[in-house]
Amino acid sequence: MRGIEGRTALVFGGKSGIGAAVVNLFETSGIRVCTADMFSAGELPLGETDSRIACDVTDADAVRSVVERAIEQLGHIDILVNNAGTGTPACDLIAVTYEEWRRVFDVNLDGTLHAIQAVLPHMLERRFGRIINTASQLAHRPAPRQAAYCASKAALVAFSASLAQEVASNGITVNCVCPGPTDTQMWHASDPAWKEWKVAQLPIGRIGTVEEIASAYLYLASDEAAFMVGQSLSPNGGDVMW
Ligand code: NAD
Repeated sequence: MRGIEGRTALVFGGKSGIGAAVVNLFETSGIRVCTADMFSAGELPLGETDSRIACDVTDADAVRSVVERAIEQLGHIDILVNNAGTGTPACDLIAVTYEEWRRVFDVNLDGTLHAIQAVLPHMLERRFGRIINTASQLAHRPAPRQAAYCASKAALVAFSASLAQEVASNGITVNCVCPGPTDTQMWHASDPAWKEWKVAQLPIGRIGTVEEIASAYLYLASDEAAFMVGQSLSPNGGDVMW
């Protein structure tokens, strides 16, 4: 793919699942990557030069420090991936506490805001950037008993489309990947009955692999996707079609 080799990326939420697959695909494609996630001290044995950085995306100051450190390590940031995400167990809205609701929005939406506000001045100065936010196919086809998660991901799609219009003329694209059900710990932690119901709706008859999702990020990061602005790219086994 054009415009990949030699680029640099900062990936939030790159420790496991889809994010780890994105980091792996980026690195094997010639992109230099810094990965920020909730790493514990024991997971970070290599010190200052390690490309893994511990960070809770709900902490705006911590996110700003990550961005500064990534720019120091990489020289600059071409690609920003906002993939850190969380949900609530499937349950009726009446049982969702306000703290649970807030936590979902703090991670999925505010975490993305913090990262973008920290990186955007740098990208505007360089007049280049690829911002890729992980939303969900549930933003486009909301499921029952997942109100906080669906609402946060739909907000992320609208947020991304709005920002995309603001910065497109500065050489910066903003897009979302909206994965369908994917084989990760987040999927496996979901309610079994809910998962069975969801898989039954998929024309392809199975959940996706992380590799099948990661390729969408590589495409959006490349020069092949230079005309993709404010889009939702949704590898989802046919759950949502348009
Ligand atoms: P996952 O649990 O393997 O990955 C989530 C990552 O986000 C983890 O590495 C976790 O440590 C990190 N994270 C969570 N809270 C964080 C915080 N406050 N600060 C920093 N990092 C934090 O699950 P996944 O399925 O790979 O999820 C990745 C993204 O994909 C999420 O945004 C999720 O909502 C989205 N998604 C997943 C599916 C699916 O079926 N697996 C479908 C659609 C969208």
